Formats: sequence, C-alpha cells, structure tokens
Amino acid sequence: MSQQKENPYPYSDTNKRYQTFDYYTRQRFGGKCAKVTLDIGCTCPNKDGTRGKGGCIYCKDGSRSAIGEGIGVQYENGIAVAGRKWKVVGYIPYFQSGTNTYGDISALRQAFFTAAGLPGAVMLGIGTRADCLGEEILELLAETAEKIPVMVELGLQSVHDRTAERINRGHSFVDFLDGYDRLYHLARQLSPDAKPGYGKLSVGIHLINGLPGETEEDMLASASVTASLRPDMVKIHLLHVLRDTALAGWYGSGAYTPMEKEAYTHLVCRQLRLLPPETIIGRITGDGMADDLLAPQWSRRKTEIANAIDKEMYARKWAQGDLVSDGMKLD
Ligand code: SF4
Repeated sequence: MSQQKENPYPYSDTNKRYQTFDYYTRQRFGGKCAKVTLDIGCTCPNKDGTRGKGGCIYCKDGSRSAIGEGIGVQYENGIAVAGRKWKVVGYIPYFQSGTNTYGDISALRQAFFTAAGLPGAVMLGIGTRADCLGEEILELLAETAEKIPVMVELGLQSVHDRTAERINRGHSFVDFLDGYDRLYHLARQLSPDAKPGYGKLSVGIHLINGLPGETEEDMLASASVTASLRPDMVKIHLLHVLRDTALAGWYGSGAYTPMEKEAYTHLVCRQLRLLPPETIIGRITGDGMADDLLAPQWSRRKTEIANAIDKEMYARKWAQGDLVSDGMKLD
C-alpha cells in the first residue's frame, strides 16, 4: 500500500502526517494560495530601545528595499513571481518584516485595510510580537478581520526565559502569555463556533529550534507548552546564522554550533506528535535569506528536510498529535 493510502492522519490528503499550510488553504479557499510578503517599514521595540537595543541576536532586516514602495507595487511584484511558480486561487499578503503592530495606528490601519482590498487577496498574515498588542491594536485587528480573514503570527521562539535572555528577546514568557491570551480571546469572541484556523481572526505561534544553549528537552518542552495554548497555527523554524548578525559573531568564534540535520528532523517529528492534530503547521524549517545564510548550509535543501521528516513519521507510524490524547507524554 502507498504511504498516502496508509496515512491515518485525518488532516491530510497526501503522505504528510501533519497538517500542512497547503492542505489548509486548499480546504479553506479551494486551492493553493501563495504568500506575498509586504514590508511597511515597521521597526521593533526590541531595537529602538523601548524593550531593548540591538534586537534578537539572529535578527536581520534584510535589504528592506521595499520600504517606500507602496503596498500595491510590492503586491504586484510578489504575485508576478508567485504566478510564474504556481497555479494559485488566491494570495495572502503577509506583513513579515519587523513588528507589524508596532507603529502609528492610523498608518497601520491604512496598510491593513489597503491589503484587505487587494485583488486576489484571501487572507492577511501579520507577523508581530505578543508585547505589541495594546487595546487599540486589538480593535484594529478586529476591524480588519471583519473585512478579510487575518492570521496574526506571534514570535515566541522558546518558552524558556533563560533562552529569551540569552538571545536578547526583550520579553519574557509571561509577557508573551499576556498578549497571546488577549488576542486568542478576541479571536474566539469574533468566531465562537469556528474550528481552529477557520475563524475571522486566527493566532499562530513561531518556535525556533537550535537556539543557543537549548537541549532537545528544552525544545520539546517549548512544543508541549505551545500545544497547551491551542494556537490555530504553529511554525517551526530552524535557527539560521545570517551574515552581519550578533549570532554570526558567536558562530565565527565557535561559541555557537548549529544543529545537525538528523537531530533537527528527528526533533521536529517528536514536536509534531505533541501538537494538537487540528493545528495547522505553517512551516517545518527555517526561511533564511539565501544570500546571507552562513550556517547550517544543509538547511538550503528544504525538500530533503521535508522528505526526511515524512520518511521518519511514516517509518515509525507517527502522526501529528498522536501523543496529545495520551497526556502528551514522550517516549
Ligand atoms: S522581535 Fe523580530 S523584528 Fe524584533 S529584533 Fe527580534 S526578530 Fe527582529
């Protein structure tokens, strides 16, 4: 029997034993949807001195070449590229660079409402920090979510405060929970009967594996605690060492060693087992800037990483969430 036919995992119509973002968009919007990244020039409280200076040790803004170009121009350029690669039914304008709920509220309102009205847009993605979700911002997110579905993606990275301090994250886990709870409550208020990821407003959490000083147990604990928060989506990243970041200095001096591929893929399989079956898995590896990537070089081979995860999940008869009903215990 083929891996696909043998697959017992319910939120998949392929051999994938976890709910891919692609599966989710096909179910929700009737076909593949492409993300189009937008840069509205938001900075970050962890850089401008409000919460910290210098930012997270791995953070790199990239060229930010799109700043100054209108959202419409960025979007047109993005869909032209995506349209050449895939046959899609819609696009997801994604506010990715910087902290996209941090800044002048009327400028943010204009940006979100403009994006909501872009031709072909089916959903918005908004990347931000949980400590940038004040009442005005929550009201704006609720207003935007009445126009178009919105997925707010919060960087958590690790639940361990000692790691947050080591990477200069600029907020603690308690800070994260405060913003997360208010956003999650709002999302459930707006769509009380929606299944995860299908409401007007959805909440995603980002985790990073391979943060300095973390053990496998630490990373499994981050996945387990994240699972208990029941987000609509989880993105699992691999820590990338990018040129001209503080982390690059640590890497150059031998103070930081990136994860090996086999350790990473095995860890992700175990994390997937801990996450609720209905949670959308937005990503299972990093998305570094190719030109700036110093290490690990194996992370460039994304298909190989995904295949290794699929192969291990199949060989061990594992599936996303298969430990959840069993008290989330690890083997
Ligand atoms: S919170 Fe995000 S934008 Fe801010 S410093 Fe960290 S990685 Fe960079």
